[in-house]
Amino acid sequence: MTGKENTQGESDRDAIRDLLLQKAKAFHGEVCAGIILGTRMTIIGMRELGMDPQQRNRNLMVYVEIDRCIADAIQAITGCSLGHRTLKYLPYGKSAATYIDLASGNAVRVNVLEKKRTDKTGPEAMKEANKLLLDAPEPDIFQVRRVQVTIPDSDMPGMPKNRTRCSRCNEMIVDDKQVRTGDTVLCGNCAHGSYYSER
Ligand SMILES: [Zn+2]
Ligand SMILES: [Zn+2]
Repeated sequence: MTGKENTQGESDRDAIRDLLLQKAKAFHGEVCAGIILGTRMTIIGMRELGMDPQQRNRNLMVYVEIDRCIADAIQAITGCSLGHRTLKYLPYGKSAATYIDLASGNAVRVNVLEKKRTDKTGPEAMKEANKLLLDAPEPDIFQVRRVQVTIPDSDMPGMPKNRTRCSRCNEMIVDDKQVRTGDTVLCGNCAHGSYYSER
């Protein structure tokens, strides 16, 4: 009986995982390795916080450490986004994300244990590798750790608490992103050298 219940539980879990994969696919365009990893990471992260991944949870914030497919899976499934200020991007180039419950302060970081998964190339090998990622036992491909995250007030959702102007370009800056040197208030572009140049 117990064995049967377990099997039922497992197939329910697989069905939910597949539904979430479809959600991520609809947003990203395909089910690639990153979508599989991001979906599994999100299932783990939300489970560890006691949240249902099938429901939008407004107390969830995610710090994602890569701007690749994984980030799209996280956004599609959780509903967290840059625009809602609930998805934070850190340019570290790592297959990792931290899931935070803003209500309790609990946080869990999930990162992918990098391994060489196959020597073969081509679409068949890719399919095989993806299947492996989908079915591999959690501890084989993920490290899951309870962590503590200090979120600056100025990074929280809600109305901007702070507005100022850059003293050089005169553009508006919100959310405490100005750079202050002595009495001078500068925007990021003016302070650090801009990512664009005038033409
Ligand atoms: Zn992709
Ligand atoms: Zn400026």
